Amino acid sequence: MAELYVVGIGPGDAKHMTAAARAALDASDVLVGYEAYLDLVRPLYPDKETFSAPMRRELDRCRRALELAQSGKTVALLCSGDAGVYGMASPVLELLPEYEGVEVEIVAGVTAALSGAAVLGAPLGHDFCVISLSDLLTPWEVVEKRLRCAAEGDFAVALYNPSSHRRADHLQKACDILLETRSGETLCGVVRSIAREGQEARILTLAELRDARVDMFTTVFVGSSATRKLGGYLVTPRGYRR
Ligand code: SAH
Repeated sequence: MAELYVVGIGPGDAKHMTAAARAALDASDVLVGYEAYLDLVRPLYPDKETFSAPMRRELDRCRRALELAQSGKTVALLCSGDAGVYGMASPVLELLPEYEGVEVEIVAGVTAALSGAAVLGAPLGHDFCVISLSDLLTPWEVVEKRLRCAAEGDFAVALYNPSSHRRADHLQKACDILLETRSGETLCGVVRSIAREGQEARILTLAELRDARVDMFTTVFVGSSATRKLGGYLVTPRGYRR
């Protein structure tokens, strides 16, 4: 049976990859992915065949991986973080019925919300949600509604895709929505290049976050009303009973 692994490789270096992800890459003949992710694993597999496609050509990458698997190779399709979180697991499974004889296995990875939270301390220690600020695949009105509901529910929030060249003001707009119900003193954090060279982290208030400049290699955390700064750490307590 032709095999395609859809592998979450974690946020960056090999230390943050699960043993199951490593085993799937070991077992594969070809590694398929965005060039930057292939670069992260190439030192581990200098001799493996690779196939890369540009960032926006995600469906091409999925189809290529499925075709290679159908031709009899064992293939790993690489995603950063977790393969199912804004990753390639769902498009591959949507396309799979067109590729008879291919068996797919999804291999979980450490998503940026979790690896970034660990850098800051424990900002996701209680109920939280994850919202992407990208409107490439989601209408912006839906993003706004989810932000309002998250603020209303007093969830801690991890924001993915907080900025890009095309939409530099999305984080500011998101903060304005959160500020409709949340205090400007709400504690937040930003983590850039988690587990990669030049990793940076910062704790700031929601009012400060509104005017912060972040890029697409950053994950942003907005605390709940219970989130505190303890020592240098950002912490959302587990116990809400006092
Ligand atoms: N599948 C990935 C998410 C892909 S969406 C995962 O589970 O982590 C891309 C967004 O993820 C980026 O814009 C950023 O917000 C976040 N992200 C992914 N890797 C990151 C890293 N190493 N450092 C900081 N943010 C990261």
